[in-house]
Amino acid sequence: MTRITDPWLMQPATQAVLGLLTDAGHQAYAVGGCVRNALLGAPVQDVDIATDALPETVTELAENAGLKAVPTGIAHGTVTVVADGMGFEVTTFRADVETDGRHAVVRFSDDLAEDARRRDFTMNALYADAQGNVIDPLKGLPDLRARKVRFIEDPAQRIAEDYLRILRFFRFNAWYADPEQGFDPEALAAIADSLDGLAGLSKERVGAETLKLLAAPDPAPAVAAMQRVGVLGRCLPGAESRALAPLVHLEHQHGMAPDPLRRLASLGVFDGAPLRLSKAQQRRIELYQSLIGAADSPGAIGFRHGAEMAKDVLLLRAAMLETPLDAGDLLRADEGAKAGFPVSAQDLMPAFKGPALGAELVRLEALWIASGFRLSRDQLLDLAAKG
Ligand code: ATP
Ligand code: MG
Repeated sequence: MTRITDPWLMQPATQAVLGLLTDAGHQAYAVGGCVRNALLGAPVQDVDIATDALPETVTELAENAGLKAVPTGIAHGTVTVVADGMGFEVTTFRADVETDGRHAVVRFSDDLAEDARRRDFTMNALYADAQGNVIDPLKGLPDLRARKVRFIEDPAQRIAEDYLRILRFFRFNAWYADPEQGFDPEALAAIADSLDGLAGLSKERVGAETLKLLAAPDPAPAVAAMQRVGVLGRCLPGAESRALAPLVHLEHQHGMAPDPLRRLASLGVFDGAPLRLSKAQQRRIELYQSLIGAADSPGAIGFRHGAEMAKDVLLLRAAMLETPLDAGDLLRADEGAKAGFPVSAQDLMPAFKGPALGAELVRLEALWIASGFRLSRDQLLDLAAKG
């Protein structure tokens, strides 16, 4: 029997939540990403728990044990139980009654195998009891050991139940698959036949899933595959995956952490309508898209938008042209970010006023940037006086 003994499972809080259910005669297991990642030696962020206890029973047992129970998703059977300041999503075993490719109507179940079959990939249908014994109803362990992302049973059927699984397939491949093996051909064929379903997904789900995919250590092979089978064209019309691999390479070379938005920008000027991002994310993408192809110098970008943005744009430009990053450009971007324009409106009054004053400040600033921030205040005022 495969066993896991990770601290997230053995810690008192997790044991308490599992124990309050099993002590009452119920089944309770850690499930999904936490078990998968423990077996892969990957970090575990949150612990999901599956049980045959109904949500109201989970709430009652938690409260009797002095723990807070928050009904975070009662409609689909989820209660968040808080122990030692950590939230555990406890979800009652479920089976799909009806699916339309976006939402599912579920019924509660007392059967772990049934709960497993409504999940997406075999590696995501692994359970662990409080002692760490791994339960694998759908033969996910061999796939996980081979680092193969495989749909549970029939890929076409799994996809038709929820088209987001197309994007999840590429996300889990990017994060956990062996890149040498390529993608499961049966899954790719089913995906190629299911592209129309992508249009029905909410922009929020597509946006969130896309960013999770792009945050993987190296999402380039997955995004290239998405382009080959036609997924990229549906999700982001006009996007082109070519610059992503060079970008990932440059990130490594320059010790820069993966940034899903920077990576998204490397896909070029695409129609972002099918994917909803936050206002701040949207602004950043638009700025990237406008600066990548613009003539603004590294110094000017640093001055106007800061060192981080300038470095990102230089990286993106280099990735698109498949050239190395120029060390001099990086220095000039930093210089620009640190520089302060030495002339103020006061300096130009009363010779200039109103719109002429604004225009003159803009003109002098452009001259100053073009000089590599070298023109002094006196030199600039001299240029102003001459008009
Ligand atoms: P991560 O570490 O990225 O959170 P995860 O496996 O926990 O990975 P989640 O999206 O949090 O991924 O989902 C938790 C679990 O719920 C999955 O492992 C899977 O079993 C199931 N699941 C989530 N979304 C779906 C879906 N759209 N279709 C089928 N099963 C799903
Ligand atoms: Mg998760």
